[in-house]
Amino acid sequence: MSTDHLNIEFKLHPVPNRLLSRNPPPHVNSIEQYKKLYKESIKNPTEFWGKLANELLTWHTPFKTVLSGGFEYGDVTWFREGQLNASYNCLDRHAIINPDKVAIIYEADEPDEGRKITYRELLHDVCRFANVLKAHGVRKGDIVTIYMPMVPEAAIALLACARLGAVHSVVFAGFSSDSLRNRILDASSKFIITANEGRRGGKTIHIKKIIDEALTECPGVKRVFVFRRTDSSVPFSSPRDVWWHDEIEKQRPYRPPEIVNAEDPLFMIYTSGSTGKPKGVLHATGGYLLSVVANLKYVFDYHEDDIFGCMTDIGWAVGHNFIVYGPLTNGGTAILFESTPVYPTPSRYWEVVAKHKITQFFTAPTAIRLLRKFGREYVDSHDLSSLRVIISAGEPINPDVWEWYNEVVGRSVCSVIDNYWQTETGSIILAPFPGVTATKPGSVTFPFFGIDIAILDPETGEEIKTTEAEGILAIRQPWPSIARTIYNDHNRYLDTYLKPYKGYYFTSDGVGRDRDGYYWIRGRMDDVINVSGHRLSTSEIESALIMHPATAEAAAIGVDNELKGQCVHAFVNLKSDHNTEIEDLVLQVRESIGPFAAPEKVYIVNDLPKTRSGKIMRRVLKKIVDGQTDSIGDLSTLANPEIVDILIEKVKHS
Ligand code: ATP
Ligand code: MG
Repeated sequence: MSTDHLNIEFKLHPVPNRLLSRNPPPHVNSIEQYKKLYKESIKNPTEFWGKLANELLTWHTPFKTVLSGGFEYGDVTWFREGQLNASYNCLDRHAIINPDKVAIIYEADEPDEGRKITYRELLHDVCRFANVLKAHGVRKGDIVTIYMPMVPEAAIALLACARLGAVHSVVFAGFSSDSLRNRILDASSKFIITANEGRRGGKTIHIKKIIDEALTECPGVKRVFVFRRTDSSVPFSSPRDVWWHDEIEKQRPYRPPEIVNAEDPLFMIYTSGSTGKPKGVLHATGGYLLSVVANLKYVFDYHEDDIFGCMTDIGWAVGHNFIVYGPLTNGGTAILFESTPVYPTPSRYWEVVAKHKITQFFTAPTAIRLLRKFGREYVDSHDLSSLRVIISAGEPINPDVWEWYNEVVGRSVCSVIDNYWQTETGSIILAPFPGVTATKPGSVTFPFFGIDIAILDPETGEEIKTTEAEGILAIRQPWPSIARTIYNDHNRYLDTYLKPYKGYYFTSDGVGRDRDGYYWIRGRMDDVINVSGHRLSTSEIESALIMHPATAEAAAIGVDNELKGQCVHAFVNLKSDHNTEIEDLVLQVRESIGPFAAPEKVYIVNDLPKTRSGKIMRRVLKKIVDGQTDSIGDLSTLANPEIVDILIEKVKHS
């Protein structure tokens, strides 16, 4: 892989005036200040994070040791003598000073059915429900599985667990009963928090039914707490199931927080399963909370009166960080969005932005590609003038899609923040800062504080020290929110992240650093395509394909080829009212990258296999093209299983 493959002219976008001229100014407001703070954070992490931990969090017992342990033994700890409670940091300390401030704006599936919840109300609700959990036997350290639709009670459930020092394990409420069962068993959960039904995009999701199916083979589950989201009645199994609304009636709206050690786990969460069986990673209370509160403040430039709109589900790491823990630890106001970007129309996001005057808007590339496919008329008629920072994460955002987001949604006056991280990193690894970083579409720019990036040669494992470099993205020293283990499988943790390259955290993603020091995520190392000795990343081929005006989205894979080692096959989904010849798409890649990268085959398709969080699962495409459909791998996280047979047929007949 080399940075000059792509002949796209990368326009440097300066920091928009809207941020430069703002009062109050961004928390970090010059590249010099960023560089100075970054250098300090790497040279002296103990001092840097120690100071920030006291500034941004409230501790019940102060810590003495900031960082101990490291990658060699996988024994990292942060703030080890410190004691705190996450729900106290999210709620009490703000409710005491500012009880009437809105903490959560619930934007319900039907646009007129939402409500606002103040810090006082949220604290009451969390305490009441924590008392319910306690009354039914939930204790510090118990793992509670949460399988909830996007209602405020989902956030209340997380925080009630945190209040008791119980460990939540949220499973996205779109997963099947099998996937849910595996996660309940893997975590040995005795308690489940759920709802009778959910509503999404005007449709009903039969949540309790899925729970009941999952629990047929989970004898360890003692209690299921059921929130009533709709009026429908559902089968109830007594005494296992109890109604949320009945139980909270009995409880007082205060419960003292259980003070936990900084290293006690706050939650476990499963990775997206893009590359294989999902990993249940465990996050520690103190370090996680600190990294996330710092992300919100610096990377998204969060200020007191901001309305933070992260349009994801609480079931993903992004939702944990940027719907619940980040905004609330900062005393902010967060949007909790129950619907989809296209319900009732593809204008929904922009209606929500205008209605609540959202200042920071966060979504994933898959949603941006979808809305771009519908066209800008759905965006243009809305007042988006409240927006200051627009954010993307989860997958590479192709430069053309970035430009669309910037121009159409951000009207070229907002900072576009493409941020790279992983469920396991717990917080942001690479991202620009609003008010600081001139951006290049498709680049995640520079590392966050405390993230000491190394680029390793995939063959030798040696670090590449030149400014311009291509290789494996690795991290040299621990940061506060790094996952501490994979639940019940510390050896898998060591094998996956710490053993592949001794002394480094291994991300398994490919990365490039250009001559200006900007970082470019190339996609998964496993997906790198080697054509006649040229190492090509999936993201650069896909970025070229998406430059074609007819392309809505694209996926590239490497297929074994006798002559070249590997050749490129591409799957392209066209915009609805567009058509094109395959030769044109191939030409686009030839011209953007070079003849060697030209796809040998292009399949025009209506959809691509995606995880439930919207990521393209290239490994499924590869298996289909390789004809290995009987060993296709873990499909439990695949959102659209029907696509597999359609694609098998498609590939067979082309
Ligand atoms: P699994 O680990 O189970 O295979 P996953 O890696 O998709 O699934 P996540 O933790 O949700 O699970 O996603 C992290 C990955 O998503 C990163 O390793 C990277 O490949 C990709 N990613 C996230 N954000 C970005 C971004 N801004 N740009 C490019 N890639 C990104
Ligand atoms: Mg991963």
